Amino acid sequence: MLNPDKRSFWLRNYTDQPVGYFLGAPLVNRPIEKYVGVLDSENMGGIRVYQGRGVGGGSLANGGMAVTPKRSYFEEILPSVDSNEMYGTFFPRANAGLGVNHIDQAWFESTDYYQFARVGRKTAERSGFATAFVPNVYDMNYMKQEEAGQVTKSALDGEVIFGNNHGKKSLDKTYLAQAAATGKLTITTLHEVTKVAPAATGGGYSVEMKQIDEQGNTIATKTITADKVFFAAGSIGTSKLLVAMKAQGHLPNLPGAVGQGWGNNGNVMVGRANHAWDATGAKQSCIPTMGIDNWADPAGPVFAEIAPFPAGAELWISLYLAITKNPERAQFQFNSSTGKTELSWQTSQNQPAIDMAKRVFDKINAKEGTIYRTDMFGTYKTWGDDFTYHPLGGCILNQATDNFGRLPEYPGLYVMDGSLVPGNVGVNPFVTITALAERNMATVVANDLS
Ligand SMILES: Cc1cc2nc3c(=O)[nH]c(=O)nc-3n(C[C@H](O)[C@H](O)[C@H](O)COP(=O)(O)OP(=O)(O)OC[C@H]3O[C@@H](n4cnc5c(N)ncnc54)[C@H](O)[C@@H]3O)c2cc1C
Repeated sequence: MLNPDKRSFWLRNYTDQPVGYFLGAPLVNRPIEKYVGVLDSENMGGIRVYQGRGVGGGSLANGGMAVTPKRSYFEEILPSVDSNEMYGTFFPRANAGLGVNHIDQAWFESTDYYQFARVGRKTAERSGFATAFVPNVYDMNYMKQEEAGQVTKSALDGEVIFGNNHGKKSLDKTYLAQAAATGKLTITTLHEVTKVAPAATGGGYSVEMKQIDEQGNTIATKTITADKVFFAAGSIGTSKLLVAMKAQGHLPNLPGAVGQGWGNNGNVMVGRANHAWDATGAKQSCIPTMGIDNWADPAGPVFAEIAPFPAGAELWISLYLAITKNPERAQFQFNSSTGKTELSWQTSQNQPAIDMAKRVFDKINAKEGTIYRTDMFGTYKTWGDDFTYHPLGGCILNQATDNFGRLPEYPGLYVMDGSLVPGNVGVNPFVTITALAERNMATVVANDLS
């Protein structure tokens, strides 16, 4: 993260780090060569949406935090899904498929690399907040070997949102590797789907795409025909495409719920300035392993990950990514004059998230006699409220699709990604997205693919 090159960002000339300021000045970002790097920050008007790009999507760029949601909240957001099946079969299956593992707690307590998390825990607990270890898909044994100097460092050498060169079990190493091992999978990289419509003759669907080079230039357009098409372009990618197809008359009978119910998983970031005696460490692992759990408090439902700030120097900063129960939602709309699908989200819709997170961090600051950092998200700006890592919704299960991701009126079209999740899941989302895909595919394979 300290020396990003062209591999860091998707087709940008300048990096766009989530924490883009330091000492109130935009010092953090760097010029880079335009290239198909792993992280994208897509500007959707009122919000920048961070997403992974490439074979493995978000798994290439994410922090690997693998959290199964609280059962009561899962039942609240997706009442049509049998939660006995989810918690008995599909969450365990997803955790196994993803290679979720746990940090060795004795090592956590002793390594310099998690001092930042121990300080975050201590200050939270002194204010009466519960904390919890969080599982991860980063190989925690590999991380211990990194510290021992036995393997090439990745998480312990400033790598995460621009990808981990080692250690992380991203999807190319798990689900996609298993699929490739069947010999039945072909992956066609650097192709962007632009249109899906019923095939003119013979049934099935025609899928149009453009092939790009490594600088993003279109070098070919192609059309293929398929009996079945699975949309797995993520909450933003799938919603944009389906809303455009409906508006342009290619899939006119898609339900009105397509494009509705988008949320940012209540994301908001904030930093606190610790006292000199609460050093957070010059060495920091980039993989978060601990969260503050205040979800049960109706006035401040927050699950906050204690995030690293791997600057390579002691800065006494505690950084948090708070997932709040922000009820605000937005819609995708097709703009016929620009030909683009837009998202109605306004930055002000994140105020409920700030209010919820403030309840937690005001209390910690009051107890510790500390203050917020106001120099990391702008000049005199406390809250990182204008971006998200967790786009969810836009094609919600059992509303825009049937209860298993099938698009009504269009047999053979399916949605199988984060757009199925209704805007907020209370924790980091990829375990839920994976478990729902496991659940839906079990039914689809049994009934539709025979
Ligand atoms: C920096 C960062 C940190 C995160 N940390 C965590 C974490 O610790 N824990 C957690 O649970 N979640 C985390 N997330 C979120 C998590 O990565 C996402 O929720 C998850 O990847 C979403 O999965 P998905 O399958 O819905 O879509 P994605 O993973 O976004 O996959 C969609 C894929 O489709 C491609 N695509 C899009 N449009 C098209 C098109 N038209 N044609 C062809 N391909 C297309 C995209 O490039 C991408 O490769 C993080 C995200 C980011 C960005």
